[in-house]
Amino acid sequence: MSILSVEKGEAYYRNILKSIKGYAVFTTDKDGIITSWNPGAQNILLYKADEIIGKNGNILYIPEDINARVPDIELATALQDGKAINERFHVKKDQTRFWGSGLVFPLLDDQENHIGFTKIMRNVSDEEQAEVNLREEQTLAQTLVSAFNEPIVVLNSDLKIINFTSAFVQYFSLNKTSITGKDFYEIMDGGVNIEQLHLKLEEALKNENFHTDFEVAYIHTQRGARSVYVKPRRIYQPPNLLFSLEFEDLTENKAVMEEKDVFISVASHEIRTPISVIKAYGQILSRELKDAKPIVTKAVIKINEQISYMSSLITALLDTSKITTGKFEIELEVFDLCNLVKEITEGFRLTQTSHKIIFTQEKNSMVLADKVRTGSVITNLLSNAVKYSPNATEVRVNLDIIDHQVKVSIHDYGMGIPDIEKGKLFQRFGRTESIKKTKIPGTGLGLHLSAEIIKLQGGEIGFTTEVGKGSTFYFTLPLYEGEV
Ligand code: ADP
Repeated sequence: MSILSVEKGEAYYRNILKSIKGYAVFTTDKDGIITSWNPGAQNILLYKADEIIGKNGNILYIPEDINARVPDIELATALQDGKAINERFHVKKDQTRFWGSGLVFPLLDDQENHIGFTKIMRNVSDEEQAEVNLREEQTLAQTLVSAFNEPIVVLNSDLKIINFTSAFVQYFSLNKTSITGKDFYEIMDGGVNIEQLHLKLEEALKNENFHTDFEVAYIHTQRGARSVYVKPRRIYQPPNLLFSLEFEDLTENKAVMEEKDVFISVASHEIRTPISVIKAYGQILSRELKDAKPIVTKAVIKINEQISYMSSLITALLDTSKITTGKFEIELEVFDLCNLVKEITEGFRLTQTSHKIIFTQEKNSMVLADKVRTGSVITNLLSNAVKYSPNATEVRVNLDIIDHQVKVSIHDYGMGIPDIEKGKLFQRFGRTESIKKTKIPGTGLGLHLSAEIIKLQGGEIGFTTEVGKGSTFYFTLPLYEGEV
């Protein structure tokens, strides 16, 4: 993780403040209260230093983003990843809006204690500035790169190398003097699996936010086969697109992760037996409650509920470890997906009263799939739709047949998912920052498992979402058109 220390940070600010006038540079404390303000910030945002120091940095954001907790998420990401991209509409003192592009870094004191944040930003809506900006961008890219010890390379939209850290040349055993301005793929061709890099980078660049991290294989001259994690991050908006790629060697981490998987698998397996026994005794107890005091009845019901929850948690853990070790298996049978959706939605109507579950389509939709596991995907998507829309009163379920595929979509009117968090959802234990701050329970395993189940059955899973309005999660399965 790369975090600017105050010492490094000060040299860094001086450099920026002196050489770049088109940039707002300001600092905040840990809670986002503004603590310093440079002349560039006054130029761009129109507040004088004494008018804004002491105010909450939120006043620079548009209300929609404040409602979606974007400022908090940005600071949390900066703290977690060492930096966060701050690229969105901002509000000037005269309440006009502009598209600001920049970065947020955590600020540490001499003892490496976290004391606040530094933000740098420029107004990218001003076309006249474009030429000046390009030069300044390059200076900034250089300053940014010199502040980090990790292997990082900065590329432009033609994938030419603009800048790089010494760790980058060292890690990939390159010749420092001859790579600036060169084609990135040409330079990387050698140890790195170039087809894989090409495919995954092109895919990542298509993503609006560039937040699609990926892994590539690399044969290091001395250390042999390595697994490298690549984090693409946009630095500037088009037309002068610049972006950085940060590399992290995951080889050792992966070995540790594999050990963890074995541990999870053995532990969950062992816990499963006593849980089944407790569950059986719990059921015996609940049948013998006729003359029991209400408090005893209530306690037994609670125990049974928690045991069921624990048992589904263990199953999810076992399944995820099976996925990572390649031992996850599915059992295919032909069944009507529409009937399954109907059964599950009816079950939901009985067990929860907060939301009306609306499912009206009745279409014959035979599929060849694992009925139990497909059912668990539907249950997961439905319970998320209910769980993450606490203020809504309905959830809509649709079933469509498009191009020989059955598509099940579940639409909620809930909180939605901010762009910056979208990439986490299908990852193992992936939960959004905003959800982690709420009391809504969850493990971040459901969508990961659902995605694997759907992919194994030849289908697709995805979602569309709008912060504050709601989300639609969907999956498809190939329609079974053979004999039944
Ligand atoms: P869990 O709900 O147990 O946390 P999931 O894997 O099912 O795990 O979901 C992962 C994360 O995706 C959730 O923690 C939440 O942050 C986000 N999420 C899933 N479904 C929705 C939804 N319908 N609306 C908003 N966020 C959602």
